[in-house]
Amino acid sequence: MTMREWLIGTGIAVVAFLGMLHVIQIIPVLFLAGLGAMLWVVLDRRNAQSPAGRDVAVRPNVSFDEIGGQESAKRELMEALDFLRYRDRIAQLGIRPIKGILLTGPPGTGKTLMAKAAATYTDSVFLSASGSEFVEMYVGVGASRVRDLFRRARALAKRENKDSAIIFLDEIDVVGGRRGQHSHQEYDQTLNQLLTEMDGMNTSQHPFVLVMAATNRPDMLDPALLRPGRFDRQIRVDLPDKEGRLHILRIQTKNKPLAPDVDLEHIARETFGFSGAQLEAVVNEAAIMALRKGESVIRQEMFRDAVDKVLMGEKTGRRPTDEELERVAVHEIGHAIVTELLRPGAVSHITIAPRGRALGFVRQIPEDDQYLYTKDQLEQQIDIALAGCLAEELQYGNRSTGAQNDFQQASQLARTMVRCGLSRLGIVDEEHLPERLLEREVRFILAERERATRDLLRPYQGEIARLAKQVVREESVDGAEFRQWLNGLAPAELTSAMTTASE
Ligand code: ADP
Ligand code: MG
Ligand code: ZN
Repeated sequence: MTMREWLIGTGIAVVAFLGMLHVIQIIPVLFLAGLGAMLWVVLDRRNAQSPAGRDVAVRPNVSFDEIGGQESAKRELMEALDFLRYRDRIAQLGIRPIKGILLTGPPGTGKTLMAKAAATYTDSVFLSASGSEFVEMYVGVGASRVRDLFRRARALAKRENKDSAIIFLDEIDVVGGRRGQHSHQEYDQTLNQLLTEMDGMNTSQHPFVLVMAATNRPDMLDPALLRPGRFDRQIRVDLPDKEGRLHILRIQTKNKPLAPDVDLEHIARETFGFSGAQLEAVVNEAAIMALRKGESVIRQEMFRDAVDKVLMGEKTGRRPTDEELERVAVHEIGHAIVTELLRPGAVSHITIAPRGRALGFVRQIPEDDQYLYTKDQLEQQIDIALAGCLAEELQYGNRSTGAQNDFQQASQLARTMVRCGLSRLGIVDEEHLPERLLEREVRFILAERERATRDLLRPYQGEIARLAKQVVREESVDGAEFRQWLNGLAPAELTSAMTTASE
């Protein structure tokens, strides 16, 4: 029995006894006691919610080796951290210590991992909090939580016998937005407190606290945060390129049984634009599929499905009618034929299982990560986007609403062409280009591409329906199988159409 419980028990007994003797009026006393209890519970709950309530010595145990594809960010970070590892020499030379490191980049690229690895690398204790945890209705709570966090970091480092602590502030933009922008002052007070804490730190302090923060909106931050002596190191953590994705896939599959047919390089090539977190999800989904199928190893085909799933969402339960399915198949075959004609070997597979909002799709194997596009390449992409609805038109004599996204994409591409000086208008100044002129040029480009794409598709008009039936039946047709079909129907007229196309 704790002291608290003992006191409560005795109190109740005394009150009851006095009440029985009619020495005091029992009702108001009970009322007051109830009120007191309620207050107790509320305060207790708030305490439990505040970060101070759950303090544990986190040993992140993440090393830089477990972070893939961020070679330059890792190198920059390790360099910055060396000041913590060689503090004596830094102090001797009178170098100003780094107090804050800001990691910027899209979600899921490994910023949290980097902060944890930094703690391992420098043998520091690690505490983390997210910007949204500091946002409270009550003025002053955010600020006091910041103060608390720094106090706890020092206490924890002392308790663990460490020279330094790393505080990781995720989503710092929530509290670190420009001051004076918010309707109430709570945010400003929280930010001011953070700045005060950082300004108060110095090298002679023991243990030393390093603040690492993450955001994907560095442009939103209050400039005061980025001044020297605060977050004066910024490290960009970008989406991984192909090599990086391969590296991440290797890391994420290290402890998983893979079938001999698994080609991680192929998966890396197909996952352009994926973040580390998405790649982790792909590997995990693939493993789940193996489990569901009762297999003991993960096969390439499961990775393929997992990529689709992460990209497009879970297969939806709704089942379109047979006519709809066939139309979708025709549409997708249109995309696939033109893809293959313009970029032989580029079709990965055609699927008509509805996923997310799409009813079907053709996945292309991206050539390699690309950051620059030529005019030809942009035109090819427009052709591929338009081919779906044009195939429908050739087959049924009409179009459907299924091409809305395709059109959006095509007109975006056409707009890019105009802006980049790749249209008839030549070099243009985007700012002074009248909207009407831009629209007219975009429409011209699209009309021209429409004509060219229809010409590409026409020789296949009679054959599309047959393949569409197969796609409906099998739900998915592999790129290799599709190419076989395409090459199989190569009478003279087709061959000539293909050679002109690939020129
Ligand atoms: P961020 O903080 O940038 O949003 P996280 O570090 O929280 O991203 O990443 C979430 C998860 O995604 C990690 O736990 C890890 O499994 C995976 N991941 C993300 N980036 C990488 C990477 N570069 N290398 C290996 N795994 C990664
Ligand atoms: Mg994170
Ligand atoms: Zn389409």
